[in-house]
Amino acid sequence: MKITAIRTFRVEAHQNVLWVHVETDEGVTGLGETFYGAAAVEAHIHDTLASRLLGQNPLHIEALHKEMLNLPNAQSSTGVEYRACSAIDIALWDLFGKVAGLPVHQMLGGLCFDRMRVYNTCAGTRYVSTTKIKPVDTWNFGEGGQYEDLQAFMTDAGALAEDLLDNGITAMKIWPFDPPAMENKGLYISAEQMKTAIRPFEQIRNAVGDRMEIMVEFHSLWNLPTAKKIARALEPFAPTWYEDAIRMNSPQALAEFARSTDVWTCASETLGSRYAYKEFLDRDACHVVMADLCWTGGLTEGRKIAAMAETYHRPFAPHDCIGPVGFAAAIHMSFSQPNTLIQESVRAFYKGWYRDLVTEVPRIEGGYVYPMEGPGLGTELQPGFFDRTDLNTRLSEL
Ligand SMILES: [Mg+2]
Repeated sequence: MKITAIRTFRVEAHQNVLWVHVETDEGVTGLGETFYGAAAVEAHIHDTLASRLLGQNPLHIEALHKEMLNLPNAQSSTGVEYRACSAIDIALWDLFGKVAGLPVHQMLGGLCFDRMRVYNTCAGTRYVSTTKIKPVDTWNFGEGGQYEDLQAFMTDAGALAEDLLDNGITAMKIWPFDPPAMENKGLYISAEQMKTAIRPFEQIRNAVGDRMEIMVEFHSLWNLPTAKKIARALEPFAPTWYEDAIRMNSPQALAEFARSTDVWTCASETLGSRYAYKEFLDRDACHVVMADLCWTGGLTEGRKIAAMAETYHRPFAPHDCIGPVGFAAAIHMSFSQPNTLIQESVRAFYKGWYRDLVTEVPRIEGGYVYPMEGPGLGTELQPGFFDRTDLNTRLSEL
C-alpha cells in the first residue's frame, strides 16, 4: 500500500479549520484535521511534506511521524510544522483503522471506559470562526445558533449553569478575565475589573451551589503576579482547575503559580510534543495535562503525552474547541488512555456546525460522551461538503 495523493480542504465559513485526505493506491482514504493558520499549514503540507509522504506506506505511522518533523524549524511547538504533522498523523490513524476494520480507540489500546464525562466549554456558535483570533475579538456574538453560551456566562452565568445541569452537564469552562487582560495588556487588574470578572462565579454558586464544577480559562494572557492574584481571589468559589494561567514558555514560572494555590493547574493545549510537557512535569508545574491532538503531533504523540502524564501520576484531559474531526480524534484518545479525567466539548459546536460538515458527531447524552464506532475515526466529511461554493482545495499527487 502506498500514499498516492494528499488533498487539503478549507472553507470560508470556518476559516481556521484545515482538513486533509491521505489517499492510497488501494482506494482507502484517511481523514485528518488541524486548526488555526489553515492556509499556512496547507502550504507546508504541499510544499514541504508531500514529497516526503507520496509513495510511502501509510501504515508506517511512527516512521512517517518522525520524517514529518525531521526539519530544521520543527522544534517542540504547536507551530505550523507540528499542526501539519498532526493533521496528517490523524489521517494515517484513520486509514490504519479502516484497513484493520476497527475503531481508532481500539488501535490505540482499546476502551478504558464505557462512557466519558464531558465538560462544556462555554463558547458561542461563531467563536473563533474567522482568522481574527485576538482574544475577545474572536467572540463573534449574535451571529446565529442556538447556544450562545459565551454571551450567557458574561450576562447570567447562573442561568447558564442551571440550563447545563438540566442537560446533565456538571462541569463548565469560562473565561471572564479575558476583557480586562486585553484592556490592561495582562499587566494588572483593577479592583473594579476583578469584581466584574468574579461576578459569573458568584452567579453560578448562588444559582446551583456546588453542583457545577467550574474550570477557569486564562488563555495565557496574564503576567505571573496578576495570575496569582486572580487565582487567590477565585479560591472561595472552589474552581476545578486554572488553565493556561500564564504563557506556557516558563516551567519555572508556572511552577511558582501552581505552588501558590490549592486549585489544580492545567497545562496546556498550547504545548507541542512530549518534550515540552516533560519540562513542566519535571518541575511539578501542572496537575492536569491538557493536549490538543490537532496541534501537539497527532495521535502518535498524544498517546505518549498521556502515558508520560501517567508516569507522573497526573490526569489527562484532551482539548476541543477546534473542528469536528479533531473532536472525534480526541474522543478516541480519551477512551483509550487509562488516566483520562474528562473530555472537553462545546455544545454550540457539536450540536451546531459540526453537524453540517461531517457524517457522524459523537453521541453526547446526560453529560457523557460515548465511544465512536469504527472503522477508523468513524466519521467523514459529508458528500455535500465537496460541492460547497466556499470550498478551497489543493492537491499533491504521485
Ligand atoms: Mg484551553
